[in-house]
Amino acid sequence: MKAAVKRISLGLLVLTLASACATSPTGRKQLMLVSEQTAISASKQQYVQTMSDLGSKGKLVTDPKVLKRVDTITGRLISQAILMRPDTKSWEWSVQVIDDPKMVNAWCMAGGRMAIYTGLIQKVDPTDDELAQVMGHEISHALANHTAERMSVAMASQLGALAVGIASDSAAGMAAAQGAAALAITLPNSRSSETEADRIGIELAAKAGYDPRAAATLWQKMEKAGGGGPPQFLSTHPAPGNRQATLAALAPQMMKYYEAPGPRPMYTLARAPAPQTAPKGTPALK
Ligand SMILES: [Zn+2]
Repeated sequence: MKAAVKRISLGLLVLTLASACATSPTGRKQLMLVSEQTAISASKQQYVQTMSDLGSKGKLVTDPKVLKRVDTITGRLISQAILMRPDTKSWEWSVQVIDDPKMVNAWCMAGGRMAIYTGLIQKVDPTDDELAQVMGHEISHALANHTAERMSVAMASQLGALAVGIASDSAAGMAAAQGAAALAITLPNSRSSETEADRIGIELAAKAGYDPRAAATLWQKMEKAGGGGPPQFLSTHPAPGNRQATLAALAPQMMKYYEAPGPRPMYTLARAPAPQTAPKGTPALK
């Protein structure tokens, strides 16, 4: 009986692997064991739960000055992301600033749910132009479906969870996907994903009105900040060999977007998670 189940699971796995290749925006083959839609719903559940836990511990930044800066930069980038990939208009874009001075990190889950840690803001001390490169890079990973790709890797590393996850849309399957969503943001991106996110991110930022020359200086600062402690951002975003040189060479091509006249559209962010999904008495979640 058990062997039969195993055989079926294996059959499903083979079937899924056979149909699990997708193509990224730059034409690279991606392993896709979860659909982007599943990645988005699982990421939403994971995000809401994580943020509500952090909120109840007072670990979400509520300082309006910090939030306004992050929301303005991120909001302008999101507007450009939607222009680049119009179906993402339906995403529930959101960003939280997590109070963790030791964590030099930022991420964007499938479906546009983001976080940035105070450690990155304090230790890297980015200018607005540089912060836009960080968030533009993160958004690009989500636009290019890298987050679902990393969830696929996380699921493939747990065959049991994988078999459950692909076999049905059951609660167990969703729980497995949710676990993979949590794990995915801790796994390193591939270097080819990094190159894609660098390329898309610098363009998003330039179109949003942020200086493309800041991409190269950001990564210099990031390396310096990573010198002393654990550089989380650098471990999840490994450098393609010639990252800074490639970005510096891209910058002149992006100047026309940066120098284009006129105000830049800005997507208005609401603080997530929504109040009805947060437990009562969570002060930081409005
Ligand atoms: Zn990256």
